[in-house]
Amino acid sequence: MARVCVIGAGAAGLCAARHLLAEPSVGRVDILEQTSQLGGTWVYTETTGYDDFGLPIHTSMYKNLRTNLPKVIMGFPDFPLPESEKSYLPANDILTLLQSYAEKYDITSHIKFNHHVQLVIPKAGGPRGELWDVTYKNLVTAVLETREYDYVFVCNGHYNKPTIPIISGIKDFPGDVMHSHDYRVPEIFAGKRVLIVGAGPSGLEISLDIAPISPMVILSHHNKYPTKTVFPDNLEQKPDVTKIAGKTAYFQDGSEEEVDLILLCTGYDYNFPFLHQSCGIVVESMCVQPLYKHLVNINHPTMCFIGIPNYVCAFSMFDFQVRYFVRFIRGKFSLPTREQMQAHTQQEKEERAARGYTRRQAHFMGREQEQYFTSLAAESGAKPLPSVLTKILMESADRFFSDLTSFRQDNYDIIDDDTFEIISNEKRE
Ligand code: FAD
Repeated sequence: MARVCVIGAGAAGLCAARHLLAEPSVGRVDILEQTSQLGGTWVYTETTGYDDFGLPIHTSMYKNLRTNLPKVIMGFPDFPLPESEKSYLPANDILTLLQSYAEKYDITSHIKFNHHVQLVIPKAGGPRGELWDVTYKNLVTAVLETREYDYVFVCNGHYNKPTIPIISGIKDFPGDVMHSHDYRVPEIFAGKRVLIVGAGPSGLEISLDIAPISPMVILSHHNKYPTKTVFPDNLEQKPDVTKIAGKTAYFQDGSEEEVDLILLCTGYDYNFPFLHQSCGIVVESMCVQPLYKHLVNINHPTMCFIGIPNYVCAFSMFDFQVRYFVRFIRGKFSLPTREQMQAHTQQEKEERAARGYTRRQAHFMGREQEQYFTSLAAESGAKPLPSVLTKILMESADRFFSDLTSFRQDNYDIIDDDTFEIISNEKRE
């Protein structure tokens, strides 16, 4: 009977546990979670910096966050969000969903809370020719333990290691410089002129969160959104920052502004500090390699990574990736040889480059999600996901980027596997 280690009890780890616990060929499932509760990034805490055990705070959740995907594509395929008035929910509703999910599938008793994974090393042995030594620390007792597993699911989340850009003079800026990882509430910006660097989903949403309380918000970025958003009068978009000198920020168009605080909304990088180099995984410029189908460690195919692709229907994708890998564990299909996996990955890389994706977009999906799901289903025989998910993902992304202030007003209803309807508030009433 297989012994499986799941690292992390966020949405991805819980989903792995849900399917592994239902799999008769799996005898033991340990879910190792460094914090004292499940939910990962959906757990809100006012604390920033370090926790009581000296570990960096994991979550990047802020108080006013509402999902940027409608609830019909936010839940798990076998555990949707309950009916409610609103399509776009507050973060706490997603945490409640995860708690209910863990309860329904009896996952919680398998989670070792306050257990920090520190080292994962492959070794020879076992029916597949390789085993894993996983060393973790019980943070409460400070006891280190090493346990042997047949498979490892890496589910440690990808929104906790801030990317810090190099900006000339920023080190000498006399005010606070913080990253969106530490953003919690707008109140600390009251009366301050704020420079926000980066206009991905976080930069855009946080700038609107802060604007009502700050005299001036400068949103500096190089994105070319065809945005119809009518921003508040005190929120101005600017091109990239060229340098900071004293309290003055200089921009690429030659303009300058005095600011009191800088908030970097410059994203996150993948990080796996617990993987020994013999695991053979390298992270470079937002690209984790070598991975087959953004999921399987090509050097050690009994290790998988759940949740690497971005701009996806996250929970549905976790579910699909997990079902794919559990079918592999069960022996329902065989993975190609390492050489074939490498060749496949290389070919995919070249095809994506030809379609215009940069190296930093190595795991970007968006519209590609549909094709990705199809390829996982075709190879593994796992039940496919309805294509309506990708249609709604793209539709809601278009609405998000074209009008940030109103995209949450309408509701989505799935009619069948292929079609959906957007119900305007007026029609609902
Ligand atoms: P996480 O939720 O980060 O969970 C990882 C878990 O692993 C954590 O509990 C962590 O403590 C644990 N862990 C890490 N390292 C170790 C270790 N060494 N040992 C033991 N445990 C460890 N997605 C959407 O679909 N819709 C949204 O609207 C949306 N909004 C978001 C807003 C913000 C601000 C952020 C940051 C993300 C948002 N996301 C959104 C993406 C979100 O991260 C994913 O939806 C999903 O929750 C990620 O789940 P995960 O399990 O991969 O990671």
